[in-house]
Amino acid sequence: MLSAVRALEQLLLPAECLVCHGLLAVAHADDLVCPVCRLRWRAVRPPWCERCGQPEPHFGPCRLCREWPEALRSVRSGVWLDGGARSAVHALKYGGLPRIARDMASALSRIIARPPSGARLVPIPLGSARLKRRGYNQSEVLARAIGGCWELAVLPQLLVRTRDTPTQTALTPAARLANVAGAFQLRIGECGLGIGRHPGSRSAIPNPQSPIVLVDDVFTTGATIAEAARALGAAGFTSITAVTFGRASIPDFT
Ligand SMILES: [Zn+2]
Ligand SMILES: [Zn+2]
Repeated sequence: MLSAVRALEQLLLPAECLVCHGLLAVAHADDLVCPVCRLRWRAVRPPWCERCGQPEPHFGPCRLCREWPEALRSVRSGVWLDGGARSAVHALKYGGLPRIARDMASALSRIIARPPSGARLVPIPLGSARLKRRGYNQSEVLARAIGGCWELAVLPQLLVRTRDTPTQTALTPAARLANVAGAFQLRIGECGLGIGRHPGSRSAIPNPQSPIVLVDDVFTTGATIAEAARALGAAGFTSITAVTFGRASIPDFT
């Protein structure tokens, strides 16, 4: 019955792909991006720096991740941020279409290897002003969708952003680092106790041995992820990785 209603709805209000505006088949009516456009999302593939997932430099060690905190083991991205992938991120962030996170998560979860069971997904938090304006944190919506695909728990409350940082667009890599310095900390538990000091706390602070997977929509220089990992590392977490849906090709700032 439900499918008959859906088919009728599809007939009256045919859904179209957000990227190419082609009509979506009934089987894909719940998606926002059609299968053809999804296939055009260009997966990020090796050879890459084993740690940051950036294509290997032609010579010498990778400069992108050399300043990262030790606890941050590796970062992987699903697709290159061009064409339709950029439209998807735009829809998620500015288009008021958090539902698109499902399309993005299903693509990402097929490209990136699933983290071990027991890993917790931790979205990069937004500052309070931006959260209020947008109404949702796009990284949290994405993390929840990825958690559904990989069957991993999401801890949206573990990290807080202590201040609203200006948008990173148009900043050089060095300016990006300075921009996010000290921007994250662990949320203090319900009884005012920090991590590891209150095992009975009902607040969802995991054991520092648990693998943590940070989730963000886009990776540009990694400054934000590195800073979030620094806050987790300072709290005793030793196994931190990160996944992002998109990876921007880094502009040449020199
Ligand atoms: Zn399409
Ligand atoms: Zn690297």
